[in-house]
Amino acid sequence: MGKVLQIGAGGVGTVVAHKMAALPEVFTEITLASRTQSKCDAVAKQIGGNRIKTAQVDADDVQQLIRLIEQEKPDLVVNVALPYQDLPIMDACLATKTSYMDTANYEPKEEAKFEYSWQWAYKKRFEDAGITAILGCGFDPGVTSIFTAYAAKHHFDEIQYLDIVDCNAGDHHHPFATNFNPEINIREVTQKGKYWENGAWVWTEPHEIHKALTYPGGIGPKESYLIYHEELESLVKNYPSIKRARFWMTFGQEYLTHLRVIQNIGMARIDPIIYNGVEIIPIQFLKAVLPNPGELGENYQGWTSIGCRIRGIKDGKERTYYIYNNCSHEAAYKETGTQAVSYTTGVPAALGAEMFMRGLWRKPGVWNVEDFDPDPFLARLGEQGLPWVEKFDIDLEL
Ligand code: NDP
Repeated sequence: MGKVLQIGAGGVGTVVAHKMAALPEVFTEITLASRTQSKCDAVAKQIGGNRIKTAQVDADDVQQLIRLIEQEKPDLVVNVALPYQDLPIMDACLATKTSYMDTANYEPKEEAKFEYSWQWAYKKRFEDAGITAILGCGFDPGVTSIFTAYAAKHHFDEIQYLDIVDCNAGDHHHPFATNFNPEINIREVTQKGKYWENGAWVWTEPHEIHKALTYPGGIGPKESYLIYHEELESLVKNYPSIKRARFWMTFGQEYLTHLRVIQNIGMARIDPIIYNGVEIIPIQFLKAVLPNPGELGENYQGWTSIGCRIRGIKDGKERTYYIYNNCSHEAAYKETGTQAVSYTTGVPAALGAEMFMRGLWRKPGVWNVEDFDPDPFLARLGEQGLPWVEKFDIDLEL
């Protein structure tokens, strides 16, 4: 098995470290590095057993990353810092011939735009270097893409309609908080919507299309909003039979009202302003005063429910299919001290790293998770804390 270098010690990073530390036969050594080393030390202490070594690194700086990788000599770098760091970390992996994995696609700091083109452009160089890059191995992207690959492999000859549905029916008892990094989250949900239909992208105004969808496990109907989400880009490319692909996320009225106010008063701005002679970026300042997503877990109640609703053809007949996971905020907190959004992202990231270490997901180049065999991953996902459910021939509501 092998040695891993994890970069990022936030909410998601805490879960990844917990899960990897629990598998010493797979992850023989773990180094946890981040911008603020004290946060890595706190995670290492919480896990205990001297399982985790810590380090400091500014992952925007390729030379610092190269030095750290050369010093630690990991088999795999797991990037759970922010999307801005994807390219510098990939550059350092190339320079040191080390494999790479992340949970979110690259996004330039100065423009709220996320797409795979920047990372896909590394494919040939990763191939030539003989190293693997696994892109987007959280829950969405990540498990949603693996659910789709599993459906295509086992249940459909042709997937025609794909709706990814993401519900957070939990209550954190704060008037406003985001469930992962506030800067990245607000940039994502305030963008225009976009979905795939008949071979082209269709744009919508932010939150223009919405409807109540019924979520399983007693959650019931929740207003769900069509937003753009990055896995749609690779899934429509990898499954060209898809006629329409959309992504839906639930938002409460209180969340949307706060979001509107934040935008209206300029606090979602990503361009620098001068405040008291110092340059600040309003959304980064906002992040500093909002609750830390990694610390929301204590009073969080309720469930998340994320899955894929698929319609297509099997043996000449139309079939509908729903595959999903429901995750309890309370159970996630009990196990790792974080809430379910960090948990549902961190568990698949640790499992993707395990797939790499076991040699099951390893091929030179740059790959999205649906490019790998979904079976060994899904065989382990429930055991690792995220059981999944399949339903056939039901009303998908979509
Ligand atoms: P947090 O903000 O809680 O944590 C980010 C971590 O990255 C912090 O430890 C932070 O350090 C570190 N970091 C930031 N910049 C740098 C840098 N320049 N150098 C080194 N370390 C740095 O975020 P989350 O844990 O909520 O999210 C982590 C990632 O997971 C994000 O990319 C997010 O988009 C992704 N995600 C993916 C999901 C999926 O399902 N695929 C769902 C949710 C999140 P510091 O403490 O010093 O700020």
